[in-house]
Amino acid sequence: MTTRTLVVGAGIIGLLTAYTLAKEGIEVILLERNSAVGRESSWAGGGIISPLFPWRQHSSITSLVNVSQDNYLAFITELKSLSNIDPEYYITGLYWLNLEDEQQALDWAQQYQRPLNKVDIVEVERAVSVLGSGFTSAIYMDNVANIRNPRLIRALHSILVNMPNVHIQENCMFTDIIQQGGRVIGVHTSRQDYYADNVVICTGAWLGNWLHSLGLNISVKPAKGQMILFKCAENFLPTIVLANGRYAIPRRDGHILVGSTMEYVGYDNEPTLEVQESLRQSAIEMLPELAKAQVIQHWSGLRPAAPEGVPYIGEVPDYPGLWLNCGHFRNGFVLAPASCQLLTDLMLDRQQIVDANPYLPVNRL
Ligand SMILES: Cc1cc2nc3c(=O)[nH]c(=O)nc-3n(C[C@H](O)[C@H](O)[C@H](O)COP(=O)(O)OP(=O)(O)OC[C@H]3O[C@@H](n4cnc5c(N)ncnc54)[C@H](O)[C@@H]3O)c2cc1C
Repeated sequence: MTTRTLVVGAGIIGLLTAYTLAKEGIEVILLERNSAVGRESSWAGGGIISPLFPWRQHSSITSLVNVSQDNYLAFITELKSLSNIDPEYYITGLYWLNLEDEQQALDWAQQYQRPLNKVDIVEVERAVSVLGSGFTSAIYMDNVANIRNPRLIRALHSILVNMPNVHIQENCMFTDIIQQGGRVIGVHTSRQDYYADNVVICTGAWLGNWLHSLGLNISVKPAKGQMILFKCAENFLPTIVLANGRYAIPRRDGHILVGSTMEYVGYDNEPTLEVQESLRQSAIEMLPELAKAQVIQHWSGLRPAAPEGVPYIGEVPDYPGLWLNCGHFRNGFVLAPASCQLLTDLMLDRQQIVDANPYLPVNRL
């Protein structure tokens, strides 16, 4: 029986884990080392509610993604009505241009019954009048949406601070687990020790090799990604476009995000001028008019890269009371609702929304 749970790390995964558990009546203490929640990868991401290349993912990612995607609008509607903050769920569709594995994508779509179709490039040029030349083929998924990460985080945070059974502690660095009688019963932190029936670790890229010290072969690597931002007219770009591994995402108010890189440089999280210029060139190739626009912001974030991008969700073997919801790599926003529901189902020992086996730490040592 779970009555009190410690959730460590307050990115999208920790915040939503806290919310999902708290809705079940569980008392939740959410611990975050920074002075504010949601300032790491979850702030930096693009907010596309789809993997970038869904057909190249492990099938276990597809299972979780499909559950999340099918319920995302309801999820956002719930957050919006409880918080009065609009995360701006914006269904724009996504065009993949000049793909080398187009046929694989179409085969995948047929297998999973997803609305992904081949379209004539003339049709794309008509829909996206600012598209650059040099594109000869395209596929389109019309139901792909994006959200504004900082707003979604703010909405979740404002709901949590008003829940009587949730306590958020910022400036609180988790340092180690506390064990007693063969169970994990709490955590040591930079502030004080906290005790609970269960501890859920949601520290994103900072899971690092911490579990190696417990003799477990479970690790998550940081994968740096940089983004740039433009501000254009509201209707400049009607849909997400993706070419040569880079994408442009339109927000409703005309902001255009262009990303991203995949850099394995440890915990270095500094944006670089070289990458800014490379992203700008990619942006101009896709949308030549951006040559006249200013880059108004440039940032980077550290994605939590678990092996094959498959998150760890479940209890840690040999450490009863210690749980993971970590390692969502490039897909933390699209995976969040299903991942947190699955973790909650496992913790409450009830029917699970998908087969939990691919994510369980015990099966991945
Ligand atoms: C450039 C970029 C683009 C992306 N685009 C997309 C996209 O379009 N769609 C999508 O679905 N995903 C995208 N992602 C991925 C997504 O952002 C991540 O998968 C997601 O944010 C991971 O969430 P998280 O909560 O696990 O990690 P984080 O947001 O990094 O949160 C982890 C939290 O744990 C805290 N923490 C760490 N160590 C400790 C400790 N010892 N004690 C206490 N607290 C601790 C950190 O301070 C942090 O707040 C993108 C990521 C990047 C960087």
